[in-house]
Amino acid sequence: MLIDSHAHLDSPRYSDDRPEMLQRAASAGVGAILSIGIGEGPAEMHQALAICREFNGQPGMPRLYASAGIYPHSTPEADEAAFAKLDGLLAEPEVIACGEIGLDYYHEGADHDVQRAGLVRQLEVAAARKRPILIHCRPRDGMVDAWDHLFLTLDTYWRHTGLGGVMHCFGGGWEQARRSLDMGFFISFAGNLTYPKAQPLRDVAAQVPLDGLLVETDAPWLSPGSNRGKRCEPAMVADTAGVLAAVKGVDAEEIAAGTTKNFERLFSLRPGVGN
Ligand SMILES: [Zn+2]
Repeated sequence: MLIDSHAHLDSPRYSDDRPEMLQRAASAGVGAILSIGIGEGPAEMHQALAICREFNGQPGMPRLYASAGIYPHSTPEADEAAFAKLDGLLAEPEVIACGEIGLDYYHEGADHDVQRAGLVRQLEVAAARKRPILIHCRPRDGMVDAWDHLFLTLDTYWRHTGLGGVMHCFGGGWEQARRSLDMGFFISFAGNLTYPKAQPLRDVAAQVPLDGLLVETDAPWLSPGSNRGKRCEPAMVADTAGVLAAVKGVDAEEIAAGTTKNFERLFSLRPGVGN
């Protein structure tokens, strides 16, 4: 069994075939999916939870979990009502994580100060609800400023909670991976790990211990391997896990079992979370 630790199941790109897409994931051995609740902004934060409730319990489906959070470039919309909505969602049993939240200095958008303030507020909400966080961190090319600001913020507002989290779609170097692991975070690799030019990222993955790893699709984006360019879906997480196994020099089964155990440990789930 594999767990896709990050997929945007509420994307409109699945509106025509969401049940079939989830069944394909189950057939490919995906036992659980963490559905990311950011939507196109705080007004859509609840959509991932709604999808969990629609499909959980139906036969032949992966077990679905949800997150809720305000994406870095949505932080200008983060008013008191949005933080209250986030708090309410994190109180729901299916909503096991706060995210994806963080800092994105790569794309044009929200002012960096606004992003940092939005991140801090969400760390406080997540800490009060005892929910691990899912971090999106993307610096400008050739820079590490976003990472440095992120670690400074986490050191002050998050480390002491001991709740940890996930560095989602990890794209940093070994220095950033090491600092993340030190703070109790898991490193989650997505389809970009499989791309021909990603050897530096594979070199980082080779150094991350098995008990610090997760796999994800970030669907509908970042299709791995031979599916690159197509719409991504959780069934494809096996391709990324396969490359991770090769990079680590272990069996695919060992990656599947290890990353599943890690996911269960981070979110304090009982073992065997599949339906
Ligand atoms: Zn994402």
